[in-house]
Amino acid sequence: MMQWSARRRSSWVQLAGHPGNFCPSEGGEVLKKYNAVESSCLQALMHDSLCRFVPQYYGVTSRGNERYMRLEDLLSGKSFPVIMDCKMGVRTYLEKDLSKVQHSASLRSDMYWKMVKVDPAAPTVEEHALRAVTKSRYLQWRDSLSSSSTLGFRIEGITKENGKVLRDFKMTRTLAQVTDTVLTFTKKQPNILKDYLSRLMALDEALKKSEFFKTHEIIGSSLLFIHDRRSKANIWMIDFGKTFPTDSGLYLKHNIPWIEGNQEDGYLTGLASLTSVVKEALLE
Ligand code: ATP
Ligand code: MG
Ligand code: MG
Repeated sequence: MMQWSARRRSSWVQLAGHPGNFCPSEGGEVLKKYNAVESSCLQALMHDSLCRFVPQYYGVTSRGNERYMRLEDLLSGKSFPVIMDCKMGVRTYLEKDLSKVQHSASLRSDMYWKMVKVDPAAPTVEEHALRAVTKSRYLQWRDSLSSSSTLGFRIEGITKENGKVLRDFKMTRTLAQVTDTVLTFTKKQPNILKDYLSRLMALDEALKKSEFFKTHEIIGSSLLFIHDRRSKANIWMIDFGKTFPTDSGLYLKHNIPWIEGNQEDGYLTGLASLTSVVKEALLE
């Protein structure tokens, strides 16, 4: 047990998300707090062309009073892994969250202060006078700060070889800034960049064939980039807690602008941007 936890401490890294959502486990698995939406997506994905891009899902288990989803540990067998979590899509909030808050015009002073802390010039004159903003205004502003609105993804965090976690990418917005970050993340190693590029291209192919992808609005989901000294660099789709079937089976394009009501998420816009970033990094 001692040996297991020592090994575990050196390899398991949770880069993003709420700290209490995960529980370490043995045998190449991680346990993530049960969520019915995510569980049903993972179940469906096990029988979809995206299966080889998603951690294996082994079903539900309990620890004490808590239920967990048993997932393949993507870091299993890696030594000193270097990891990057990219949150995909042109928006990171659900349409229903936006309409809920739009219909209640309640003003939020906590969100006003969060906004001012990042950029004192962001609130309008009126918002400054009220010392408050609406939640919908805050959600949309937050996505426009990073590269989400324009490039269709944003970097959530990076874990370096020495285990140091970097999370300060809220204002990493332009293609040049993201490319610089990817160059640092990969240390410009061509073999790693090439592995990432071919995986992104294979993912693009698989997404185009996927029935799941056509019929789901994918919000807040990430691509997890992982490399170490020994094995091939790889990319995985994770985090389906805000992934919902479209209304009456509507087919989404995933690369056209979002207009409220069309459910588009810009996932393929993000994938195309990431592919350009990696190609650009290979030329450096
Ligand atoms: P969010 O706040 O983004 O909704 P969350 O609580 O839903 O977060 P995830 O995004 O699924 O959690 O995961 C958080 C982090 O945990 C990831 O960035 C990654 O570092 C790690 N992680 C998640 N799933 C796995 C896995 N199957 N194998 C290895 N690491 C994982
Ligand atoms: Mg996440
Ligand atoms: Mg999540």
